[in-house]
Amino acid sequence: VKYGVYVHIPFCRSKCPYCDFVSFPEILGEVIDGYVRSLAHEISYWSAFVDSHAHTFYIGGGTPSLLPADALARIVELLYEGFGEPVEFTIEANPEDLADDNLAVWERFGINRISVGVQTTNDGLLEKWGRRKISADRLKSIRRSFVLNMDFIYPTYLPTGWRYDVTEDVELVKDVRPQHLSWYILDLHPGTRLAGWVRSGQWHEVDEDILLSDMQIIYDELRAMGYLHYEISNWALPGFYSRHNLGYWQGRPYIGLGVSSSGFWAGFRWTNTISLRDYILGRWFDKFYRPVGNEILVEIGSFALRTLQDGLNRELWERYGGNFDEIASHAADVHGVIVSGDKILLEDSVDVLMISNVIIGEVLSPWL
Ligand code: SF4
Repeated sequence: VKYGVYVHIPFCRSKCPYCDFVSFPEILGEVIDGYVRSLAHEISYWSAFVDSHAHTFYIGGGTPSLLPADALARIVELLYEGFGEPVEFTIEANPEDLADDNLAVWERFGINRISVGVQTTNDGLLEKWGRRKISADRLKSIRRSFVLNMDFIYPTYLPTGWRYDVTEDVELVKDVRPQHLSWYILDLHPGTRLAGWVRSGQWHEVDEDILLSDMQIIYDELRAMGYLHYEISNWALPGFYSRHNLGYWQGRPYIGLGVSSSGFWAGFRWTNTISLRDYILGRWFDKFYRPVGNEILVEIGSFALRTLQDGLNRELWERYGGNFDEIASHAADVHGVIVSGDKILLEDSVDVLMISNVIIGEVLSPWL
């Protein structure tokens, strides 16, 4: 079985104003020690269920790159002991943690892919978001030793009166040429500081026409540079798809470890607690259940339809008990959907992908 292992590191230096991930801004040494101890128990629990090497490891967060080297070393050692050696090993990192000595340590640990939260090159926005800028030279040097993913966020909300120039971010990509890119559209989450700024009128939503034409610029430029658009928000040079994330989207099993993680194994799904205290006390699980019938089909279908090369295919749909001919004939009538042989794919255009949630909902509506 090709499976992935995800580890969530829920610590950050401060909370970015738009973020609603489970992350805690206090990073006390004893909390980290307790967290790693609990991870060790969770890893040994799950490793008893596996009988082959993991395909991928992914350490995400939060900000895993701020972990002290000894804590990260322990986690890496536990992962190797529990799940063997993967072919792809990613760590997420923030710009301030990418000094040469950190990179050398990570390379020694067998990490071969770094996902950098660049977010934007716009100085004003970075300052408002409380994020640091990273230079093109630093990114290029990472690219030489690792598979580099650059994570961008399209700012759908701006301080009132501001304009954002997407071409500056595209220029950085042209200069660095990372192997992989994620380009997310900022969602507004209730309870975040950004939501407060919008409510008070200090920030405003970007016009839909501007968003669409900026996305068109991104799509055109990335295509011209040779990137393959293989998932709604993800692009890669040929051969550099994120194997780990493709596993989620294509219904493969994975083991999620740490606060707020989720997993999918032998037909069971689980989500872990979002309470750091409960997690450290060893009370990991929040929900553990076996989705069946339409529930599993909808879960599998809504992930698979995000992928633009594999899509929702016959093998996958039938593996979970669906009738492919039935969904293919329904999907053929949905706007923005292409049924091609044994695959159902979303059309790879800005107009369609900007409303992908609606379209995916329509494709799956008979099973909802
Ligand atoms: S660094 Fe990432 S996880 Fe942490 S607060 Fe910022 S966006 Fe959220």
